Amino acid sequence: MNLQCRPELAVAYKAGSQIARIVSEDWCARELYCPACDSDHLSRSKVNTPVVDFVCPQCDQPFQLKSLRVWNGKKVVDAGYESMLSAIRTARTPNLLVLQYSPDWLVRNLLLIPRVFFSASVIEKRVPLGPQARRAGWVGCNILLGQIPQDGKITVVSAGSILPEHEVRREFARVRKLAKVPATLRGWTIDVLNAIRRFGKPQFSLQDLYMAESELRTLHPDNRNVRPKIRQQLQVLRDLGLIEFTRPGNYSVRD
Ligand SMILES: [Zn+2]
Repeated sequence: MNLQCRPELAVAYKAGSQIARIVSEDWCARELYCPACDSDHLSRSKVNTPVVDFVCPQCDQPFQLKSLRVWNGKKVVDAGYESMLSAIRTARTPNLLVLQYSPDWLVRNLLLIPRVFFSASVIEKRVPLGPQARRAGWVGCNILLGQIPQDGKITVVSAGSILPEHEVRREFARVRKLAKVPATLRGWTIDVLNAIRRFGKPQFSLQDLYMAESELRTLHPDNRNVRPKIRQQLQVLRDLGLIEFTRPGNYSVRD
């Protein structure tokens, strides 16, 4: 993988966002492999698929690319709010690639967020565009990276260092099991996993998790039975092999 982009491809363009899109899409088409299978490249998607930029020619996994110069670990600006929510409800969200380039056009960081991690909890509605805007009233969204557990943020390039392909593919395969959880429930599964990961310790108890009750209630305002839901999600995470039950009310995290 060569981290150098080709800014000369965009000399005809003036807008920064357009230049970034052209240069970073070219880089992905030349250098990126599929994390879901052994394909050594991704194909550009057809023009009529707005949230999908690349598709794996071998396994059909869709990818969306967001490129930026300034890294923000908390949120990434994404597409329209309603179209994103509808993509989540119908399980059509692509895997997200967040690419940061340096001022001299080297890929500095590249993060892969598997599609199974997108739920309503990680989408933030933005303020509608003002009356002066070309698309006045249009509502965009942010993807809240902070609401996505570490398992869902797979590093492909970190501070200019390339991670081995087999490690990226292993991480992707590990969390792909979450796709077995129905989309309507998966938001809960991921929010509980996020709370567990934030403890930052190999063992935790049900009481630890109940400390996150109010946060989970805020994320799921329609659900009044948060504690039973937490216990149900622990079983889901155990069945996926992401945690283990050690003794009643005590659990350990599996890597
Ligand atoms: Zn593939």
